Order: sequence, then C-alpha cells, then structure tokens
Amino acid sequence: MSTVITGIGELTTNDDELGRLHDAAVVFDEGRVVWVGAAVDAPDADERVDAAGRAVLPGWVDSHTHMVFAGDRTAEFEARMAGEAYAAGGINVTVEATRAASDEQLRANLDRLADEALRGGTTAFETKTGYGLTVDDEVRSARVARSRAESVTFLGAHLVPAGMDADEYLVLATGPMLDAVVPLVDAIDVFCERGAFDEEQSRQVLRAGQTKGLGLRVHGNQLGPGPGVRLAVEHGALSVDHVAFLETEEIGMLADSWSGGARGTVATVLPACDLSTRMPLAPARDLVDAGAVVAIASNANPGTSYTTSMAFCVATAVLQMRLTVEEAVRAATLGGAIALGRDDLGRISVGARADLQMLDAPSVTHLAYRPGVPLTAAVWRRGERVV
Ligand SMILES: [Zn+2]
Repeated sequence: MSTVITGIGELTTNDDELGRLHDAAVVFDEGRVVWVGAAVDAPDADERVDAAGRAVLPGWVDSHTHMVFAGDRTAEFEARMAGEAYAAGGINVTVEATRAASDEQLRANLDRLADEALRGGTTAFETKTGYGLTVDDEVRSARVARSRAESVTFLGAHLVPAGMDADEYLVLATGPMLDAVVPLVDAIDVFCERGAFDEEQSRQVLRAGQTKGLGLRVHGNQLGPGPGVRLAVEHGALSVDHVAFLETEEIGMLADSWSGGARGTVATVLPACDLSTRMPLAPARDLVDAGAVVAIASNANPGTSYTTSMAFCVATAVLQMRLTVEEAVRAATLGGAIALGRDDLGRISVGARADLQMLDAPSVTHLAYRPGVPLTAAVWRRGERVV
C-alpha cells in the first residue's frame, strides 16, 4: 500500500539537491520513499495523510546506545549529583546484574527502551554488548541486541571484569569471545580511557576486529585527553564517540579523514551523557566549523545517560553546544546513518527507507525553542505508521 503525506509545512530531506522544502509532499511505497516534491504536484496514493502544515523530518538514527542490560544505578547517579566524580568502574554494577538476568529479562528491558525511543521518533538505533564480559554473556547480549537493533556492536573491551587481569582478559576478548560473537555483530568497539583500556590494548582490540572484517568504533577522549581519536582515525574507524576533550590538532584530524572523498571517521557527540556526568560538553561547534562529520546520539545506558530522547539531545546540542537547529537535526539523523555506514537511512529522498517523523510543530526549530515538550506527532518506520 502506498502512502502520500501532503500539506507538509517544512520538510527536512537531508538531500543536498532537495534541501529544505515548504508546502511539500512525500510518497512512499513498499517501505521506500518513491517521490518527494511540492504538494501541488504530488501523485495520488492508496492512503492520504494531511500534515496540516506540520514539520516532517527523517526518523532519528541513534548510533550509540547500550540498551542490553539489567539493573539500575540510581544510587550512583544520586552520589554523582551530590558531588562525586564519574569513574569508569560503575559499569561493573551493571555487569553483575546483567549476568544474573535471564534472556527474557534482557529482551523485555531492551523492548521497553526501544519502544520508548520509537515513541520519541527514533526509527533506527545501534546498540552494544559489553555488560556480559564472558563468552556466553556477550553472545547472548549480541543475540538479544540483534532482535531489535539496526546495528549491533561488540564491546567486550568495555572494562576488565572483576577478578581478571587486563592482558589475560584481552586474550579472551580478542580471541574466543570475538570468534563467538562475530556472526551476530556489525562492529567492534573499545573503551579507550583511563580506568578502562590504554592505547596499546585498544590497538590490539581494533586490529582483532579489523581481521574479522568488522566496522570499528572507539569510546575516546571522554574523561580527559587521550589517544582515542588518533587511534580511531589511524584505523579508519566508522566513528569515535564522546570526544569531549579535543585538541585543535585532533579536530583537524577528524575533518581531514574525509578529504578527497575518503570514508572518514564520524565524531559522535553524546550531549545527554556530558550533562549526566557533569563533564564539559564536547566541542561540537568547533567540529562542524572545521568540516568534521558529526553525529549526535543518546548513549542510552543505565549509568551515565539514562535517556533514549534524541529530541533532548538535539535541544542540548543547540542550546548548549551552539549548533544551529539544522546542524543538530542533520547530525541526529544523517550523521547517525553515516556513523552506521548506512546510506538508506537519515534522509528523505527517492530510494531511502521510509523512516519519517512528523512533529506537532510547524518547523524543526521548535525542537530547541520548546525543549522538553514531547513534539512527536507521528512516526513511520519502513513505511508503516508505528506511532
Ligand atoms: Zn557508550
């Protein structure tokens, strides 16, 4: 069944030729966009939806989440709000709870969060393993992730689990554990940070992933300056995420990674995480100004960013990181798609997957102008109305 959405007050396409359209219409059929243009020229379709002047944009593409877990870290959050500093070790609390949970509990928790994200306009998301940290627990985490996520990342190198030595653990994580999860995942990730994995260990993880043909990701430069960005760019990673502490040279490195038409490394900023850890916000303005490709993601996880709201992240990126609304929306849709290595997501143009959201507002500006207000009026995923 084909659908035409007409009467669109403002249509964000993320397509360089189409740009931003007013009084527009979109037609989709069999889950794909088949026509985009002026409402007056729109062809007919089986189903007709009148947007009545409201804004339509691509569904959010959330390219960084940790939604396969069990348990709760309210106490850690309260301690942090009372003045304690964030350290990577809190992850162990979630690891214990995740190992103790059944597959059904993990799946139910993921469904709850994925449904919540969908109601907020997220039509595609990546999620990571990394709270199992044994071969069996990482494999079942990947399997649970696969049941809902568009893209799954193996994050065995999240933390050295309690009772193990780092080198001993890495032999496992880059050997038998990696072998066991490879059929279930698209990418490999490493938490390159003080208290997690150092430069040489991170290199070992990335090389192991590369050998298996996986996409590469790095959690880098979150808690202070470090080698994460450099390692990511050197290895041709799909993305380096957090990037709160960047030298001018590293910003240049990220921008240059795209020069000459090369597939570069996306700089993924996680504004909700920066706020929840009370850390400095990533320099998204400087990254965009330098010509880097930026993605905005939620980093939904129970420790440092317990939100699935991409609208909140976009509002924060505008109000606090000083992106324009247009830049922030692009980073939360097309930027996420590029970070996932996908060219069918994050845009509304012929051939793209019909993942769209309609706002209860005349323009995307309202996402930042009316922060905290749930503006999602309707969501289509693969052409099907889901909200
Ligand atoms: Zn993360």
